[in-house]
Amino acid sequence: MPTDCIFCKIARRELDAAVIYEDDQCVAFEDLNPQAPVHVLVIPKKHLADFGEADVADAQLLGHLCQVCEKVAELKGIAADGYRVVVNKGALSGQSVFHLHLHVLGGRPMDWPPG
Ligand code: AMP
Repeated sequence: MPTDCIFCKIARRELDAAVIYEDDQCVAFEDLNPQAPVHVLVIPKKHLADFGEADVADAQLLGHLCQVCEKVAELKGIAADGYRVVVNKGALSGQSVFHLHLHVLGGRPMDWPPG
């Protein structure tokens, strides 16, 4: 894990975060700047800079992250109503933290197309 990556630091519990779920492969924590009533980030403990860095060897991990998004939605009480999962990759998407993370957003109607 890179020493200067803030999400690696959260995964190692060196940086404070409001963690709501953790297992051997991932951590889920509240976004510092929430864009919806529920806004949780799900990150792998393994450092992948972005979605494009994941390869076939990460297939199980990616599937697990998807399952954890649903688990987070259940924990937050938004699974039945529905929620949005967002992964930003690269400059045009607005990615600002270069450690793969899945945004779980919910608790209000989501607009489409997204901004
Ligand atoms: P992205 O623009 O997809 O890279 O999203 C990065 C997200 O990380 C943003 O929604 C930030 O609010 C969030 N964020 C950045 N630093 C922290 C932190 N220390 N704890 C929780 N969320 C953070």
